[in-house]
Amino acid sequence: MCLNLSKKYIAIFILIILIFSFVFALPSSFTSTPNYTYKVVIDAGHGGVDGGAVGRKTGKDENSLNLEYAFTLKQVLERFNIKVIMTRTNLNGLYNSFSVNKKKDDMLKRKEIITKSGANLVISIHMNSHSLSSPKGAQVFYKEGDLTSKGLAESIQRIFVQTLPSAKPAPSIGDYYILNCSDIPSVIIECGYLSNPQEEALLLTESHRQLVCYSIFIGILKYLSI
Ligand SMILES: [Zn+2]
Repeated sequence: MCLNLSKKYIAIFILIILIFSFVFALPSSFTSTPNYTYKVVIDAGHGGVDGGAVGRKTGKDENSLNLEYAFTLKQVLERFNIKVIMTRTNLNGLYNSFSVNKKKDDMLKRKEIITKSGANLVISIHMNSHSLSSPKGAQVFYKEGDLTSKGLAESIQRIFVQTLPSAKPAPSIGDYYILNCSDIPSVIIECGYLSNPQEEALLLTESHRQLVCYSIFIGILKYLSI
């Protein structure tokens, strides 16, 4: 318990140091009036009839938790004058309620938003799940053979390793629609496992949400070589 607590404080301390070192090195465009040098699409995974993974202990679903993380990340990025385009801003899916193939409609709509966005990169937020309760840790996924997306994934995962004690050591390849639907560098971030009761409890706290989102932000800055 004490060890976990001290690990958490060390992680927060490291993150604060990282934030300060980057913020002071930022060009004035990031700290003055918005000129939106960079644009990021934030995609909160799932929605509507597709609730995604469900917390083993609390029953909290991915749909709502992904959205909470997406909004926190939006706040962080906008604080530093990065323009954010959200694929969804409420609990509904992106499909017509009369559609016979809601999942397909939903994904096509996300693709349309991404391809029209003119964004520099796409961050898709998810929570992981496993049939066993032991797997844990945040991990970033990218499309096989896509070196720019791999660079973004590695950059974010490196910060996770420094700030989140249970983070996986490296990003992984993933074959997902969001990663394949455009030429914009794109990653899926599995913030942690809702099937692990300890991690589920952590993922539901505001302090952990802030820690994950600031880590993603620093990873993005490093990727953009700012
Ligand atoms: Zn998901």
